[in-house]
Amino acid sequence: MNAVGTILKLLLVGIIVYGLIFFVQKNWPISPFGPSLNEFKDATDLHPAVVEKRDQLIEQTKAQGIDVVITDGFRSFEEQDELYARGRTTEGQIVTYSKGGESYHNYGLAIDFALRIDNGDIIWDMEYDGNGNGKSDWMEVAEIGKELGFEWGGDWEGFKDYPHFQLRPEDIK
Ligand SMILES: [Zn+2]
Repeated sequence: MNAVGTILKLLLVGIIVYGLIFFVQKNWPISPFGPSLNEFKDATDLHPAVVEKRDQLIEQTKAQGIDVVITDGFRSFEEQDELYARGRTTEGQIVTYSKGGESYHNYGLAIDFALRIDNGDIIWDMEYDGNGNGKSDWMEVAEIGKELGFEWGGDWEGFKDYPHFQLRPEDIK
């Protein structure tokens, strides 16, 4: 057996496998091996399951003396692309790392929240303890959202999206 030939064959197989993995990741950026987001790609609004949990979140946080404001819900692929351009090819600060099709908002499966304080201001302050129970209101909202079955962006590795809740396809139905 020719050792050089074997090594070359192994190299070739390696390159092909690497190329395939690269191709799959590039074309299915979101959980390529998980349940498919694809079946939600024609969404034009929030999924009913998300609406239900959103309303429960508002109700349950209100019972804790926390006024949650939903600042964002469904976004079309085009709206997502416009948002992605911000701070890159258009003016402003970078607000997202997801292009059209890469965010759960594009499938009607995500919401963003903020807090409304007594004077009516909307805040993104994670330390704020408006109900005075010694716990951050923001973290209380995160806990309640997770109990309802949402995945919270603050739990993500790497980039953390603290105002973000999403419902994974496998958690619907
Ligand atoms: Zn979000």
